Amino acid sequence: MYDENNIFAKIIRKEIPCETIYEDNKVLFFKDINPQAKIHVLGIPKEKVINLREFIDIDDKNTLVYFFKKVHEVIKTLGLEKQGYRLITNDGLNANQEVPHFHVHILGGQNLGGLK
Ligand code: AMP
Repeated sequence: MYDENNIFAKIIRKEIPCETIYEDNKVLFFKDINPQAKIHVLGIPKEKVINLREFIDIDDKNTLVYFFKKVHEVIKTLGLEKQGYRLITNDGLNANQEVPHFHVHILGGQNLGGLK
């Protein structure tokens, strides 16, 4: 069940600040507080979904298209298209998912090494 008090829910409600890269009424992109690369941005839809499975099960599929189009727009805005980037989502125990609100990590700005 979705935890209304997870950190990203609080960030969406503006109870906790973040360094916003892009925001509208459906999505929010902000800098990761503990960056793992020169550029490390998190992207979240504002729907109350925990992981990719819940997100793709959402009734209004336009929401999915909208979110991933915005992911790509932000990637372009960050100037990552030419040199490349990595897009990650962590789900569950084996992935050590810390925050139970679906999110993608956009990493770039340097060579990211081999770990997939
Ligand atoms: P994950 O392991 O995929 O759940 O990643 C959660 C990410 O959220 C980690 O990379 C954290 O550094 C990041 N994070 C946690 N709290 C905050 C915060 N208040 N602002 C920005 N990023 C955060």
